[in-house]
Amino acid sequence: MLLQTDRSLARHSWYAETASRRQDHRALQGEVRAEVAIVGGGLAGLSAALELAQRGRQVVLLEAQQLGWAASGRNGGQALGGLACGMDEIEAQLGLADARRLWAMTLEALTLIHARRDRYRIACDWQSGALTVATSARKAAALRRDAERMASAYDHPTQWLDRAALGLHIRSPRYHGGCYDRRGGHLHPLKYALGLADAAWREGARLHEHSPVQRVERHRSVTLLRTPQGQVVADQVLLAGNVHLPALAGVGALPPGTGARIMPVGTYVGVTEPLDPSEMDGLLPTRAAVCDSNFVLDYFRPTADQRLLFGGKVSYSTLTPPNLAGSLQARLARVFPRLAWRPLTHVWGGFVDITMNRAPDFSRLPPDGAAGAPIYLLQGFSGHGLALSGLAGKLVAEAICEDASRFDLFARLRHRPFPGGERLRTPTLVLGMLWHRLRDLTG
Ligand SMILES: Cc1cc2nc3c(=O)[nH]c(=O)nc-3n(C[C@H](O)[C@H](O)[C@H](O)COP(=O)(O)OP(=O)(O)OC[C@H]3O[C@@H](n4cnc5c(N)ncnc54)[C@H](O)[C@@H]3O)c2cc1C
Repeated sequence: MLLQTDRSLARHSWYAETASRRQDHRALQGEVRAEVAIVGGGLAGLSAALELAQRGRQVVLLEAQQLGWAASGRNGGQALGGLACGMDEIEAQLGLADARRLWAMTLEALTLIHARRDRYRIACDWQSGALTVATSARKAAALRRDAERMASAYDHPTQWLDRAALGLHIRSPRYHGGCYDRRGGHLHPLKYALGLADAAWREGARLHEHSPVQRVERHRSVTLLRTPQGQVVADQVLLAGNVHLPALAGVGALPPGTGARIMPVGTYVGVTEPLDPSEMDGLLPTRAAVCDSNFVLDYFRPTADQRLLFGGKVSYSTLTPPNLAGSLQARLARVFPRLAWRPLTHVWGGFVDITMNRAPDFSRLPPDGAAGAPIYLLQGFSGHGLALSGLAGKLVAEAICEDASRFDLFARLRHRPFPGGERLRTPTLVLGMLWHRLRDLTG
């Protein structure tokens, strides 16, 4: 059911129309051997494939659909430092010193995008500049306090902009203040994901599309991953399947309860037709990416061909909201009233994998026997994974080939399953989220 909904959400993606897939990677047939097998061809899996291949490992990546097909190729394109949960949660769990190390890694995730773009000549329409904005005076004060704390405790200064100064970047009556971070920015995520896939392939990774892993069997010293027409015999395994991965629970890969630590939440995006550049100057003169600080947030940015790409609605029930285009359009008109009558030419969406505390959930599942190897799991990016998933793949490669300490810092974060377990977590969450929506509305 989730997969069916996701397929229909993928159908009208503007990204899919504007990125070219240079090559198809044929489905796995027969048996192959791998030092590392990766399940999932999103940014997390592709990044790990690239890093492992660069380190000379024999890598096989299995993707159920097409590379970059899911969240990684359909997202808002905002490449930001930090984590969805903010640093308070991390500091409470790990203490300030380790929280600072972790924060620095989230900035490294941005540097990694630039390094890969340059090294592999990935044309992905990068544009620097990211703004976080507040929709009320109370929220502006809270955002400012947060920015000041990030500057003092994490050496991360951003530029505070009051209502008037905000006009330099965004011409909208909706916002009371915001902070500008020059390190963040935005890109075309599908072009970037396909560029990473090409890079991994050129470095020697084997990539197979249309190869859903249906069964994972752990044997004494190897793990077997079965697809409809083939199987991989692997020494080590990374599971990077995001919301569709829990389908593997109970078939030997995931301990019971792992899937209940994430919840699929639908989120949606649309683009306008291309605007005249002077019209875009009147909306987002510096072409920065923008997101607000609400719990159910609006996020938007210009594209390279001067469309406004706007994201914002969510569905906790996983059902696609009725009149999606109309309600996205209405949210867009709250921000830029002059776009009220400009139709969205494409509307699509996808699922994010949120955790209870919105912190990422990386883990090493212990080996089955003395001779076995752990299975690595990357999940729970909580809607903030464009940059971080790239770093996560690198951390897995480091852990397998060199040193696990940076991976283990993330793995120390504790997570609770959603109330209701895998079957009842969605209705329970729907009720819980009503409270957060009311908070957004009450300013
Ligand atoms: C609409 C939308 C907007 C977003 N906007 C932003 C944003 O602006 N900024 C930001 O930072 N983040 C954003 N995100 C979140 C971000 O896109 C994700 O955190 C990130 O892409 C996760 O990457 P991933 O590789 O973990 O997962 P995915 O990209 O979902 O990839 C997982 C892959 O695994 C495959 N798979 C699953 N199970 C199997 C199996 N059994 N066998 C083989 N393959 C399997 C799937 O087919 C899929 O291709 C957004 C997400 C969405 C949906």
